Amino acid sequence: MTISGSTSQSEALFSRAKAVTPGGVNSPVRAFKSVGGVPRFIVSAQGAYLTDVDGNRYVDYVGSWGPMILGHDHPAVREAIAGALSTGTSFGAPSPREVELAELVTQLTGAERVRFVNSGTEATMSALRLARGFTGRKFIVKFRGNYHGHADGLLVEAGSGLMTNAEGGLGAAAPSSAGVPEEYAALTLVGEYNDPAALDQLIAERGHEVAAVIFEPVVGNAGVLIPTPEFLAALHRVKEAGVVLIADEVMTGFRLSLNGATGLLGLKPDLRCWGKIIGGGLPVGAYGGRADIMDFVSPQGPVYQAGTLSGNPLAMAAGLATLRELQANPGIYTQLEAYTTRLANGLKGAASSAGVPLTVNHVGSMLTAFFIDTPAVRTYTQAAPSDTKAFARWFQAMLSRGVYWAPSQFESIFISAAHSDTQLNATLEAAQTAFKEVN
Ligand code: PLP
Repeated sequence: MTISGSTSQSEALFSRAKAVTPGGVNSPVRAFKSVGGVPRFIVSAQGAYLTDVDGNRYVDYVGSWGPMILGHDHPAVREAIAGALSTGTSFGAPSPREVELAELVTQLTGAERVRFVNSGTEATMSALRLARGFTGRKFIVKFRGNYHGHADGLLVEAGSGLMTNAEGGLGAAAPSSAGVPEEYAALTLVGEYNDPAALDQLIAERGHEVAAVIFEPVVGNAGVLIPTPEFLAALHRVKEAGVVLIADEVMTGFRLSLNGATGLLGLKPDLRCWGKIIGGGLPVGAYGGRADIMDFVSPQGPVYQAGTLSGNPLAMAAGLATLRELQANPGIYTQLEAYTTRLANGLKGAASSAGVPLTVNHVGSMLTAFFIDTPAVRTYTQAAPSDTKAFARWFQAMLSRGVYWAPSQFESIFISAAHSDTQLNATLEAAQTAFKEVN
């Protein structure tokens, strides 16, 4: 952490960016809209650190929103990308690394087939089309505050930036974006996360029309929400109604265990979606699962899905190197969880000494500190009244001390294998003072 305090070059870049890009950013939450201040323009990243254009160096808890589980600029990933670069950047034809990565993913996850795309959004969008094609049904079910990317039918009561940017922190009613026709949104039925009775009732009434239930197996996009065993059981019951159960593991895949949340929680989804870690920091998404469903995908089956850059050799190389590193060092997951637990306890202690109400949810290397005084945050509705203004003050106080937290109350932060005691101690020291500045 080296903080000069100057942000003049970030400010200059932000003004230039706003003149040529909507809001000055290429993804909304990067604009710091809900926390205020100037977004830092990053010029390099190494291990657990980000360096901005003004030379400020921060401990990074965003990890590019999930992919960087090994830390930035990991040597194995860098070498794999460099090796792939020397043989060409895109072929538009099948290539060996696509097979290797698909074999590794099926081996680690038990999915029988996998198809690579370029983002998490493409993965969920394609999985839902597939479920509709397979079942011949139109409706899908998602949960309030879960985010599955920005495809039209999924921007309904969605989390992530939509929750962050909504007035008062509460997500907008369906649809949650302008430009999504009501007719699309009407095909998306919305349930409350962790409400098994409501899901049972919905499926009892409408199950015959529902192609798929899609869910975040641990929510990151309303802040971290942990599913109850009863809710997981209700999710699995939807399969009895012929509904395709889709676990959106874009965030949790390869993060909560080598087999993601599915492995950690013993889930049995029909299909899964991946993104983030599967591409090792390059743009990749994937969906996969039961062979009888996946074989409905073109050219094997009637459901069309394609991509100019899908299976890109650089992206496959980065994904392969990342997954192989995780496979070779399974102890990473224990290390990440231990760090996260110590961070959670340290934050709770610092908040309590400063008299700031805080509820910390964490699992594996995902964590959200909700600025709210409540026994537990298990649903979007419970998370939404968090004090976003207090969070914003704390965020700025941390940033000024060299800690780059997720710039929204309703996001998970991510610990990487590059985080160690050095960063933990510095973070908790910053937090002690930052909480005192909140009130
Ligand atoms: N699904 C989940 C659970 C996510 O967290 C995200 C992104 O944060 C997506 C889907 C969309 O992924 P992408 O941003 O790569 O399109």
